[in-house]
Amino acid sequence: MAAPRLRLGRLMLSEQAAVLRCLRRAYSTPQTFAEALRLPKKQLTKLVYPLQELEQYLVSDSKPDLHLTVFDPSLEEIAKAENVFAATARNRIEYLSSAVRLDHAPDLRRPEVCFIGKSNVGKSSLIKALFSLAPEVEVRVSKKPGHTKKMNFFKVGKYLTLVDMPGYGYRAPEDFVDMVETYLKERRNLKRTFLLVDSAIGITKNDNIAIEMCEEFALPYVIVLTKIDKPSKGHLLKQVLEIQKFINTKTQGCFPQLFPVSAVTYSGIHLLKCFIANVTGSLN
Ligand code: GDP
Repeated sequence: MAAPRLRLGRLMLSEQAAVLRCLRRAYSTPQTFAEALRLPKKQLTKLVYPLQELEQYLVSDSKPDLHLTVFDPSLEEIAKAENVFAATARNRIEYLSSAVRLDHAPDLRRPEVCFIGKSNVGKSSLIKALFSLAPEVEVRVSKKPGHTKKMNFFKVGKYLTLVDMPGYGYRAPEDFVDMVETYLKERRNLKRTFLLVDSAIGITKNDNIAIEMCEEFALPYVIVLTKIDKPSKGHLLKQVLEIQKFINTKTQGCFPQLFPVSAVTYSGIHLLKCFIANVTGSLN
């Protein structure tokens, strides 16, 4: 994206500085991986591997294992995965349908991944960030209290279907459990469940219910830590360590590596895209 032309000379010095600050902010969040690769190494690491960036703040003699290398793709693989999420004439990314019951869900031809989490965890923002190279896709959200909550299905080219599950913990928990439980138990093409946890809040009581469901049905699932641009580094590190310990000691089906992301700075988004592409066999 080219920066707009500005006649800075006409502005006062303080105004010039403010304009430059805004421009720097606006153009420092690369949307494509090719743009990201032009960043200085430190910034690239922060953007692509946020967990690795955090790890350096741990005291070296008591470093807990953050399982950084369980999923550790090369930059080439991350670049390849980006094509899966880039809309083109031959790779259509689109909203398919919504369903309140599993028998209304689209067919099972493609591998599927689903995103679950409490209301306000940042689920729609994350899905929009995953679809940033398909800007015409509308990530439908109906947050009005009393509105029927639905599962929303998105087609990602010929590769996979992504399902946005209704947020839990905000009214109608029984409806949620009925709908989500049936889906998780019976959806045969479900390859991975992504459970979103707010990085400023940590695992809540309702998150635990969702975790118990995944464990009970022996589903492979992954914890994605959202909004990592929000808390301080210290608080974020504390949450990461607590959740990592929880994964290590209390779960069976949870992927050992956490995926921290920000829909604002795009930190962790490229790695998550690559992981989704990998678990759905889209990179073959
Ligand atoms: P949902 O209810 O889970 O779909 O959550 P939304 O995506 O609507 O996000 C809820 C609120 O959190 C909104 O005000 C978003 O702007 C904000 N939010 C979402 N993702 C991020 C993020 O990565 N960073 C920050 N700072 N705010 C976020």
